[in-house]
Amino acid sequence: MRQVLLNCKAWVFCCAVMVAGFTQAAEMTKANIKQALADAYKKYRHLDEGKNADYIPALAKVDSGIYGIALVTADGKVYTEGDVKSEVSIQSISKVFTMALVIDQDGTDELLHNMGADATGQVFNSIVAIEQYQGSEMNPLVNAGAIATTGLVDGKDYDEIWGKIASEYNEFAGRELTVMEDVYQSEAATNQRNQAIASLMHAYGHIDENFLRATDIYTRQCSVGVNAKDLGLMAATLANAGKNPVTQKQVTSAENVPEILAVMATAGLYDDAGKWLYKTGLPAKSGVGGGIIAVSPGKFGIAVISPPLDAAGNSVRAQKAIADISSALGGNPYQVSAH
Ligand code: GLN
Repeated sequence: MRQVLLNCKAWVFCCAVMVAGFTQAAEMTKANIKQALADAYKKYRHLDEGKNADYIPALAKVDSGIYGIALVTADGKVYTEGDVKSEVSIQSISKVFTMALVIDQDGTDELLHNMGADATGQVFNSIVAIEQYQGSEMNPLVNAGAIATTGLVDGKDYDEIWGKIASEYNEFAGRELTVMEDVYQSEAATNQRNQAIASLMHAYGHIDENFLRATDIYTRQCSVGVNAKDLGLMAATLANAGKNPVTQKQVTSAENVPEILAVMATAGLYDDAGKWLYKTGLPAKSGVGGGIIAVSPGKFGIAVISPPLDAAGNSVRAQKAIADISSALGGNPYQVSAH
């Protein structure tokens, strides 16, 4: 009997060692995080795929070599690799934070009833997607839904609305961000397609008569300059139930964060959102400036900036680096151990 007991103990001990061995690589220790960032940085530094967005002329001129990674844990520890100082325009990543502002202002149902929370399966500035259901059955992260969302921000005039949006972004980032005026001017001079999208959304009752003002404010929000560290902290604020883990300010209501993350999971990478979720399980958002943020709820926010994009408009390096890092750190929220 004693022998059986001893064997049993030895077996339990062996299992514990094996489990520890298996999970070690996925643990969020300082050493593992640093290693994961360094590995991903090195692996993709010389990758030569994709190209800068050029439908906004100023974006074609951005240095394609900018490549920076920032991971911020939900308890506020910041890890970086590469160029985390250079700023690019936030572009569509901004849509997440205007959505947060409107959800705090109006509750979660307003956006659901207005433009919906469904993937369109179309490119981010699709007009076909609007036509299909007259501007419903979309989401706040494609251009049509995003411009309508900006149009829902309360305020007596342009400046008041813009002021609210800018301070929301500043609080997420934990510092005062500035608009890249050259990017704003460049997009404002060439955004007839977004004006047409806003006009259609107005025709279908999703945005009021100030739809051109909303388009302009939307263009301005897309031109806010951010570095990888800013984006990492913005993502980490979502990972930490809406509370900025560095400044400790509750930026957006904790109870609304699940809805924000759900829309990011559904549509954050546009028509490639499903593929991305399949691979990583992470709610994420891309921008044509070359940034991508991703959120592992309760664990970390991560951001990578690298301007060359794939055909869907998502940064090639950023997708690969985030997928690798998250997998090395056990970031996929769907991956759990059995009880
Ligand atoms: N400002 C850009 C646009 O409206 C944002 C698009 C994006 O980042 N996907 O076209």
